[in-house]
Amino acid sequence: MLPYATAAEAEAALGRAMTRAEAAWLRYSAFVPDHLLYCHNVAILLILYTIAPLPLALLELRARAAPDGVAAAVMRPSTYKLQPRAQLSPAAFLRCYLDTGRVLLLTVGALSLVSYPAVKMVGIRTGLPLPSAGEVAAQMLVYLLVEDYLGYWIHRLLHTRWGYHNIHRVHHEFTAPFGYAAPYAHWAEVLILGVPAFTGPAIVPCHMTTLWLWFVLRHLEAIDIHSGFNFPFNPTKLIPFYGGADHHDYHHRVGGQSQSNFSSVFTFCDYLYGTDKAC
Ligand SMILES: [Zn+2]
Ligand SMILES: [Zn+2]
Repeated sequence: MLPYATAAEAEAALGRAMTRAEAAWLRYSAFVPDHLLYCHNVAILLILYTIAPLPLALLELRARAAPDGVAAAVMRPSTYKLQPRAQLSPAAFLRCYLDTGRVLLLTVGALSLVSYPAVKMVGIRTGLPLPSAGEVAAQMLVYLLVEDYLGYWIHRLLHTRWGYHNIHRVHHEFTAPFGYAAPYAHWAEVLILGVPAFTGPAIVPCHMTTLWLWFVLRHLEAIDIHSGFNFPFNPTKLIPFYGGADHHDYHHRVGGQSQSNFSSVFTFCDYLYGTDKAC
């Protein structure tokens, strides 16, 4: 909840006129408690999880249903699909979606309710001014690097005999991943992977809107690397050292015995620690 109720009060506190984005933020958040703003994460996550993987899932099903049709020609599964022989039924897509949605709602929902004091303590702010684009970009880069490094080691620990058998095998149930399988995991893994996601914002605190954006970005990235497609026109191919779908697809294809390609974002750690494999 912001400490000012009107635009005049906010502009007096800022010492300047508000930008359009700041005026919109004031209108939206002036009377919304901070813990409720933080819990928006759960709704953002579930909406994004429902919508973002949908186009690829529909195209994949459509291409399979009409192999000589336009969709099949556009998708050219044999060219772009990383595991063209792997075919999932609509029922499998639905089961993955419903199971994952339930786990996300219970784990991320519960975590959001209890973790708000920590979010407040590290200095996530909700007031004005809003962060600049440069500040947001710099924070995103830090968060990506921190999550990539910590996530690499957590992923390696999950591939120990105990970690794999008791937790990580659920995520590896799909040896040919697809977008909806990105967060498909044991509830404990969903909670554990919250640690590297929160560590960046804890080290470099940000605005609440940046935190929302960070969760959107990391979830889109997870969907991208689990998409099962290696499109040559994917803009992520312009990002230096970005692992991408082919890097992570190999990890899933090998399955439980996999001892390579643990990185989720970049390829630094796999290269540094000798766990990179040609895809
Ligand atoms: Zn794994
Ligand atoms: Zn995966």
